Amino acid sequence: GRKFFVGGNWKCNGTTEEVKKIVTMLNEAEVPSEDVVEVVVSPPYVFLPTVKSLLRPDFHVAAQNCWVKKGGAFTGEVSAEMLVNLGIPWVILGHSERRALLNESNEFVGDKVAYALSQGIKVIACVGETLEQREAGSTVAVVAEQTKAIAEKVSDWTNIVLAYEPVWAIGTGKVASPAQAQEVHFELRKWLKEKVSAEVAASTRIIYGGSVNGANCKELGGQPDVDGFLVGGASLKPEFVEIIKAAT
Ligand code: 13P
Repeated sequence: GRKFFVGGNWKCNGTTEEVKKIVTMLNEAEVPSEDVVEVVVSPPYVFLPTVKSLLRPDFHVAAQNCWVKKGGAFTGEVSAEMLVNLGIPWVILGHSERRALLNESNEFVGDKVAYALSQGIKVIACVGETLEQREAGSTVAVVAEQTKAIAEKVSDWTNIVLAYEPVWAIGTGKVASPAQAQEVHFELRKWLKEKVSAEVAASTRIIYGGSVNGANCKELGGQPDVDGFLVGGASLKPEFVEIIKAAT
């Protein structure tokens, strides 16, 4: 079976004090064991060492991005090697905010995923369509193209979690319906089966992101192809604990 996965993407939020408060809240929470749910929180780079040192050992930490190749003269970037050096096991790559605001192309994201994996970092790889693309009926084609750009650069999917995050659902309060999420997750798994392998399709976690909250998580998480969540806004609140509990 695919272990339920709940990621908290804190995006560009928080002060040292706020981050410590969130970690304390998480450390005190009663949640299902690590055998049942994998929990990964993703603070901004500058807080990674603090969160890593304070966070309970059964929860893990992810960076929100990293550079596409070995570090060097790349002002403002953080390399995969640095994440390894800090003991950060995960990275989120290809988030739609970076695709849209920083012009990260499918190919660039594919290269980043391959490089991070080559350094031993596990990857939460994000895909998702805009409202315009959904209304044009191209949702499946868009997410397939984004996934293809990753599949072309990667041979081992063991350390990849695929996050389906429809852009129109991110930070909008307009969550995908359980049926809408299930349909795209099903199509992504079918794509993996046809283009990668039946084994990869069966074992790869496909998680949903976009306005997940304490009230909608249970039904979404109950869909057969929804293996967890990538949570934005609600991951900064006590509500995140309720979302972790949706694993059971
Ligand atoms: P929200 O949960 O705030 O909609 O954000 C989702 C997201 O982008 C997680 O990566």
